[in-house]
Amino acid sequence: MTEKSRAGVMACRALRPFGTSIFTEMTSLAMKSGAVNLSQGFPDFDGPDELKRAAAEAVWRGPNQYVPSAGLMPLRRALAGKMERFYGVELDPETQITVTSGASEGLAATLLGLLEPEDEVILLEPCYDLYAPIIMRAGARPVYVSLDHPGLGLPREGLEKAFNSRTRAIIINNPLNPSGKVFSDEELDFIGSLCGRFDALAIGDEVYEHLLYNGHSHKTLLAVPSLKDRCLVISSTAKTFSMTGWKVGWVMASPALSEAVRMCHQYLTFCTPGPFQEAMSLGISMGDGYFNELRESYTGKRELLCRALADLGLEVYWPEGTYYASINISGLDFADDLAFCRFLTTEVGVAAIPSSFFWQDRRGGRDLARFCFCKKDETLLEAVSRLRRWRG
Ligand code: PMP
Ligand code: GLN
Repeated sequence: MTEKSRAGVMACRALRPFGTSIFTEMTSLAMKSGAVNLSQGFPDFDGPDELKRAAAEAVWRGPNQYVPSAGLMPLRRALAGKMERFYGVELDPETQITVTSGASEGLAATLLGLLEPEDEVILLEPCYDLYAPIIMRAGARPVYVSLDHPGLGLPREGLEKAFNSRTRAIIINNPLNPSGKVFSDEELDFIGSLCGRFDALAIGDEVYEHLLYNGHSHKTLLAVPSLKDRCLVISSTAKTFSMTGWKVGWVMASPALSEAVRMCHQYLTFCTPGPFQEAMSLGISMGDGYFNELRESYTGKRELLCRALADLGLEVYWPEGTYYASINISGLDFADDLAFCRFLTTEVGVAAIPSSFFWQDRRGGRDLARFCFCKKDETLLEAVSRLRRWRG
């Protein structure tokens, strides 16, 4: 093979700068080091047994072949019911709900299905790592607007300046990974007014919609009057049912926007595994008790981890939503957040995520490290005891 052979080339130009995901890197370092893994956000416990049983039964009984591309009707109907029950939003499961393989595929199908080369998409920083590579793979351009630090307010003037005639969409991750911000009604209305003025779409990544604290309640973009017809709301069962590996997600939007998403989804995966869809139609239909208990359980875990970090003399940013908490590491004498997280993983035995990976200009988050608290209490207590040894 000559040096110029195309068979020897790495990923395409758009993806190359992003490298391997920080979640993969930190989880593999945690495993090698025997560290308690509070980096990549996945629970160390599984969701309800009855969902596992339903999935297993569905595997035995079928469907084990392709199911309809837009998703099994019982799941789509259950999702429509959930939107009505929790948010008072009415959706037609036939034309407005598309089941995807996780929120990840929902986001990809949305971005790849809608963007044209040269379009701009506004990203509010800090932001999740999936958006920019897919936007760039579509030939479009991410435009970054940083939230205020440390208050996480929406910089209204800066945001208004970022909108222009090329702006095709803005992505709003609410509640926000990694900071745990919950957007206020006023902020969402303001974003709605800008989207209307510039004829732009709003893409809501709402995967943490059921994990809110301190009396906060979730406002889906579909319930914002100015956004109702120009938004796509993406979510999944990963966090709500503690089954991150099942990859059952969805996109909800007007019939016209849903059609664009389906156009892409049919070529990406065509459909999502039927047995998991069937099981999750039960999950989505669970009573309020399930959702309340989930929130209560995470309220306790948040308190356990954040209080312990604070007791160790660390400056903690308590989240309003999500299952992540961050600390300020600027006083700890490390070169940056990556150096800190590598040290913590290999020397202290607790893995965390360096927050700078959520910023395009990594200086934005270099003073922060993110811990997840989606773990058994005993796992969190073990992490705390290791951190105490280090601090002591
Ligand atoms: N968006 C955000 C903000 C996330 O944190 C994650 C990770 N769970 C995803 C999307 C991807 O969700 P899924 O696992 O359902 O693909
Ligand atoms: N959403 C998870 C997190 O933020 C990571 C999921 C993934 O590994 N892509 O930790």
